Amino acid sequence: MSEPQDPGEVDAVRRRAKLHMPALKDELSGALDELEARFLRRRLRTVETACGPLARVDGQDVILLCSNNYLDLANHPALRLAATAALERYGVGAGASRLIAGSLEPVHRLERSLCRLKKAEAALVFGSGYLANLGALTALAAPGDAIFSDELNHASLIDGCRLSRAAVKVYRHCDADHLRTLLDEAGGARRRLIVTDAIFSMDGDRAPLEQIVELARRYDAAVMIDEAHAVGVFGPHGSGLAAELGLGEQIEVRVGTLSKALGAYGAYVVGSRALIDFLVNRARSFIYTTGLPPALAAAANAALEVMASEPERIARLWSNAAYLRSELAAAGFDLGRSASPILPVMVGEAGCALALTQGLYERGVFAGAIRPPTVPAGSARLRLTPTAGHDRSQLRRAVDALVEVGAQIKLVPPTSRIA
Ligand SMILES: *Cc1c(COP(=O)(O)O)cnc(C)c1O
Repeated sequence: MSEPQDPGEVDAVRRRAKLHMPALKDELSGALDELEARFLRRRLRTVETACGPLARVDGQDVILLCSNNYLDLANHPALRLAATAALERYGVGAGASRLIAGSLEPVHRLERSLCRLKKAEAALVFGSGYLANLGALTALAAPGDAIFSDELNHASLIDGCRLSRAAVKVYRHCDADHLRTLLDEAGGARRRLIVTDAIFSMDGDRAPLEQIVELARRYDAAVMIDEAHAVGVFGPHGSGLAAELGLGEQIEVRVGTLSKALGAYGAYVVGSRALIDFLVNRARSFIYTTGLPPALAAAANAALEVMASEPERIARLWSNAAYLRSELAAAGFDLGRSASPILPVMVGEAGCALALTQGLYERGVFAGAIRPPTVPAGSARLRLTPTAGHDRSQLRRAVDALVEVGAQIKLVPPTSRIA
């Protein structure tokens, strides 16, 4: 073998060598293959219908049991009508960031409605829950401050904590004693902020808000809660968990979404006038992004009206959840520590959770597998969420399918009950 001499040939060798360096897409394909091998690769499914108790997913009619559409409002005629009317009047896009040119009247009306629901001084609508959490945390905490964060907080809270560059102290899930220890150790912080989901999105359990508020008073900390899964589910007229516990006024920052029980899209922060004015000036995910489209604000406003005028929706949600919970528990499923309509069917390994999802899908029931990193390793699950829109026969079919597939994958004992 001889070394190539002429410059043209050297270039050709270099080019060939370069070809052997993996291109970005090859590296990414490798990473995806690795995820696939560990049953952690995720894929999008196509839904051809509105979000409701029944849906057509990847071409098959299924009972949809994994949406956050708790009150079955996403396709409610009143929301459609309100959105359509706003669309006709204001058009589609907000046109700009709200501080520049886009603070449309339907959004202001929605903020006034949210204040009434939450008995709050002021409200600010954001583009989404993710943006609301990012914006509030980065505005309220900075280097020199300390944030105390439940270990199972939603990813948007975790990301907000990181982006704030404050010291982040993660306490064990719902463990007020651990929180107290961390507060004890953080005396030097300029500002202390305790942040938690009100209802934990993947477990359905509730944060110990009474204890958290008490600790906050004792340690001169502020409290921020995320009521994404509490609004429309807990509290008088669906006003949330803090309201149910009579703690609304003692929690400085309350975040909620318009995208779950309320069936629309977007999110909000409620609190004092000072908090909201401060966020208008300092929350980057509010300032540097386009305002919520007016049709969505109008739909969310209509959702608040339906929630107030049709309280039976909340009652149906809870009775459906109670039915599903007792049937699944009787069949031997482990439902974790749920205290809400979010029912985690604990499976363990990601591959098993996928097998359960697939078996259910083949039987006309859709509930996607929840796997790491959304939940801790070894705690893969199906997260079942009945809504106000399901009827008993649909839930019965879902239970039968779960029992059948659950027994096949040896998650629960076989049963002779299936008739
Ligand atoms: C869904 C969710 C969010 C994000 O809300 P989006 O409006 O969907 O962005 C934030 N926090 C919690 C706890 C959630 O479950």
